[in-house]
Amino acid sequence: MTDSRNWFEPLPSTRQRKLLASRRDGLLITVDGQRLLNFASNDYLGLSTHPKVCQAAQDAINEVGLGSGASRLVSGDDPLLHELEQELATWKGFEACLLVGSGMLTNLGLLQALADRHTHIFADKLNHASLVDGARLSGAQVSRFPHLNLEKLEQSIEKSGAKQRVIVSDGVFSMDGDCADVQALISLAERYDALLLIDDAHGTGTVGQQGKGLVAEAGIAGHKRLLEVGTLGKALGSYGAYILGTKPMIEGLRQRMRTLMYSTALPVSLLAGAQAALHLIQTTEVVERLESHVNYFLAQAQGLNMMPSTTAIQPLWLGSDESALEASRALRAQGYFVPAIRPPTVPEGQSRLRITLSAAHQKKDIDGLIKALRTL
Ligand SMILES: *Cc1c(COP(=O)(O)O)cnc(C)c1O
Repeated sequence: MTDSRNWFEPLPSTRQRKLLASRRDGLLITVDGQRLLNFASNDYLGLSTHPKVCQAAQDAINEVGLGSGASRLVSGDDPLLHELEQELATWKGFEACLLVGSGMLTNLGLLQALADRHTHIFADKLNHASLVDGARLSGAQVSRFPHLNLEKLEQSIEKSGAKQRVIVSDGVFSMDGDCADVQALISLAERYDALLLIDDAHGTGTVGQQGKGLVAEAGIAGHKRLLEVGTLGKALGSYGAYILGTKPMIEGLRQRMRTLMYSTALPVSLLAGAQAALHLIQTTEVVERLESHVNYFLAQAQGLNMMPSTTAIQPLWLGSDESALEASRALRAQGYFVPAIRPPTVPEGQSRLRITLSAAHQKKDIDGLIKALRTL
C-alpha cells in the first residue's frame, strides 16, 4: 500500500539537496554554523543589502503595510507599480512593461497566454526551467535546438508550417554564463515571421552600458517582434519580475496572463526596494565595479578549467556529480561558498562549480578564491 511516507522513491545521496543557511549577511553566508564568503548569489551588485534599498522597502512597509492583499485584478494597482513599470520600460528602451510576481510565474503565464496548439515554439536546449515549463503548459508544439546553434534553429523554423512561431531563449544563460546572439535571433524572427522572447534575468544589471542587458546592448530594444523578460530578484536585489514589449502586446498580456490575474500582487515594499536599486544602478558606478571584477577574475583564472564566459557567472568545469560535490566541500573548508551544480539543473555528466561574482566583493576576495581553486 502506498501512503505519503513511501510515495517518492528515495533519491541517491549525490542528488539530495538540503542546505541550511542560517543567515545571509551581505557577502557572508552562515552554513552549518560556519561563516563563508558567498560566491553563489545572483545579487550581482550587492544591492539586496544596500542601506538605501532596505530603507526604501522599510518606508513602504511603514506607509502601506506588508502584503498587498489580493491580485492586481481584484484590488487594483498601487501607483508605485505603474511608476516602476514606466521606469523599467524607459530604462530598457521599450514602450511598455508589466510587473508580475516572480520570474517563474512570469514565464509560465506569459507562454501560456502567448502560445496555443497552433503555435510552434523554438527553444534553446539550455533555457531556464520556467521557460521549459511555460512552453509545456501552453500546449504549443515545441522544438528544442542545440545550445546557441542558430543553423539548427533555422533548419527547424524553415520546416515549420505553424500559424504562429515564437523563438525563446535566455539572454545570459544562468548555469553557463554565456550569451545568446540576440541580434541574429531577431533577424531570424524577421525572416520567418516569428516573435522572439528573451529572458535576460542574468544580463540585467550586469551586461552592457548601465547594465541594461544584452537586448539594449545589441540595439534591438523596443523591436516590434521582441519581448524581454527580466527579474527584480537578481541584480535588482529584491523579488519579482517584469515583461517588456510593445503597448498592444503588454496590454494583451495584462488581460490574459493567468499567473498575473490569479496571484497576489507584489508587495509594495519589494517594488520600492527594486526602484531604489534601479536608481543606484543609474547614478553610481556599481555596474562598472562588477565589470572590473569580472575582468580581474578572468585574468587571474588563467589555466583553471573555466567554461567560456565573460559574464559574472563563471562556471568551473568538473564533469561528474562526485567531483563537483567534492570541490564544493573543499572550498567550504577554506571559507568559500560555491555550490556544485548537478543534474537535473545541468545535463548529465556536466556538473560544475558555479561561481558568481558581485560588485560587493573586494579584489582580495577574488584573489583568495582563485588561490583556493588552484588547490582543487
Ligand atoms: C532566476 C530566473 C528565473 C526565475 O525568476 P524568479 O523570480 O527567481 O522566479 C527565470 N528565468 C531565468 C533565466 C532566471 O535566471
